[in-house]
Amino acid sequence: MKIAVFPGSFDPITRGHESIVRRALPLFDKIIVAIGVNADKSGYFPVEKRLEWIKQVFSDLPQVSVESYNGLTVDFCRKANASYIIRGLRTSADFEFERSVAQVNLKLDEAIETVFLLTLPEYVMVTSSIVREVHKHGGSIDQFIPEVISI
Ligand code: ADP
Repeated sequence: MKIAVFPGSFDPITRGHESIVRRALPLFDKIIVAIGVNADKSGYFPVEKRLEWIKQVFSDLPQVSVESYNGLTVDFCRKANASYIIRGLRTSADFEFERSVAQVNLKLDEAIETVFLLTLPEYVMVTSSIVREVHKHGGSIDQFIPEVISI
């Protein structure tokens, strides 16, 4: 069984994230959307809320599950029996950063491959940090977050 982990902060989940998961579906039997929890950074939205929203977004897909984790992504992958990490690429800056992370992860566990999907052009500018900024200042974020959730 091909199991993939899509790790991230998802603070909050955006249409860009949703699109990556839906496009990755044909490649894997199971996808675990995994919220990496950092003990030093609590984030903007509570982890429980982020989990709830992601569950709602993929409630139509039994092969997608949601979890949170602490520590190394490769350790989480091993526990989940996942051999693949999914990451999305928006820009060349993303690529430079993601290349280092993926290469380090491969050093940590050569059995876990990172698979990259290019962002759809309409989602290139959709980032969780911009969504947070708009939300913080009272703007509407509806067009950036998945249709089925309201924040
Ligand atoms: P992280 O803090 O790990 O970057 P994010 O939640 O910001 O967590 O992103 C998780 C993953 O989703 C990353 O691979 C990121 O490149 C990807 N991603 C973020 N925004 C988009 C988008 N608009 N389109 C496609 N992929 C995206």
